[in-house]
Amino acid sequence: MGNLPGTRDILPEDTALWQFIEMETRGVFERYGFYEIRTPVIEPTELFARGIGGDTDIVGKEMYTFHDQSDRSVTLRPEATASVMRAYIQNTMFREGNLRKLYYFGPMFRHEKKQKGRWRQFFQAGVEAIGSDHPAVDAEIIEMAISMLEALEIKSRLLINSVGCRECRPKYVELLRNELQKNSDGFCGDCQRRAVTNSLRVLDCKVENCQPLIVGLPVITEHLCEDCTKHFIDLRGHLDDAGITYEIVPRLVRGLDYYTRTAFEIVSGELGSQNALVGGGRYDGLSEILGGPATPAIGFAVGLDRLAMILSETRGQTDRRGPEIFLAWMGAAAFSKSLQIARQLRRAGHYCYMNFGEGSLKSRMRLANKLDAKHVLIIGDNELANERYAVKRLADSEQWEASLPEIENYLRKC
Ligand code: AMP
Repeated sequence: MGNLPGTRDILPEDTALWQFIEMETRGVFERYGFYEIRTPVIEPTELFARGIGGDTDIVGKEMYTFHDQSDRSVTLRPEATASVMRAYIQNTMFREGNLRKLYYFGPMFRHEKKQKGRWRQFFQAGVEAIGSDHPAVDAEIIEMAISMLEALEIKSRLLINSVGCRECRPKYVELLRNELQKNSDGFCGDCQRRAVTNSLRVLDCKVENCQPLIVGLPVITEHLCEDCTKHFIDLRGHLDDAGITYEIVPRLVRGLDYYTRTAFEIVSGELGSQNALVGGGRYDGLSEILGGPATPAIGFAVGLDRLAMILSETRGQTDRRGPEIFLAWMGAAAFSKSLQIARQLRRAGHYCYMNFGEGSLKSRMRLANKLDAKHVLIIGDNELANERYAVKRLADSEQWEASLPEIENYLRKC
């Protein structure tokens, strides 16, 4: 029996790379004062219908939704921002009155068309800074996303835009809808539908024939209200001060309805068509949509599968940690002794490996090398009788005899 399309097993050969990515990412988030939050993988369907918007592709076509035994409509989360905001409201974190900085790691589920770099179960790390609309917060989380990619030595480009607010965005959308209605013939079928349901989404259509038509549409940055214009100017000022280079892309709108003002994406040149690594933006309207108090917030999510894909191409496999000591036992008496030595060394905190089948010393040495063991402990009849064992250091093939306490003492200093 196989796994479902769009899902995969990440095998032990690859998990070292994933652990490395997670460790570096977590380290950067924590240096910027973010704390981890863990929310359920399943949520009421209503959360995403309200929080993401019914006319988005995610909610309309891509969610894994089912009815549980209590006939509740449940959905495997397609993203985590709505869940984090639900948890923020439900746990009355807003009462503390300060900026809450939260981060998460975990699998997300979207029934998307399968292609390279696009999975139906994929992994994201993300952050949400909830409780401030200050443009310096936007700049700080963008800086953090860039630091994270730098820590992983991934080259990237930052694209930014402002998508306005409740005041100015509807007026711009109205203008856009009118323009689209005037001349909708050349657009693809999806765009013609979006022109009515979610006009902004026309701007990020990837269909080639739509591109020249999109270029002629009005741009949102020329229709921002005074406050949004100032916010965008201030954000750019903070990015300039931090020495961060960016491109302003007025077509960058993000697919989700609750985004306001800052929208950004970080792309890599190395991934072909699925080159988006980080997607983020401000979502000042989400808390209210979910029944909470008006609370400004900004966040981003980074696709860990894509980071792993780039790093496995640029760095190759990350070394697995080999055993500190490999127990090469020969004979039944040595087997029992080996179990006891393994227990003792592990209790003392050492990574000790032994296998359970009979085998020659030669085959044992072959396996120890394959596992990248640092030392081999040879346990045969002679060694048992004297309680002194042959220790072989594989790096330089040096070999010596030692008692178990001497070995422990040596390993402690390694
Ligand atoms: P989004 O939540 O759509 O803003 O996506 C944020 C990031 O998650 C993207 O930039 C990608 O790196 C990653 N991502 C989104 N969808 C997928 C997918 N189906 N497979 C792999 N990575 C994805």
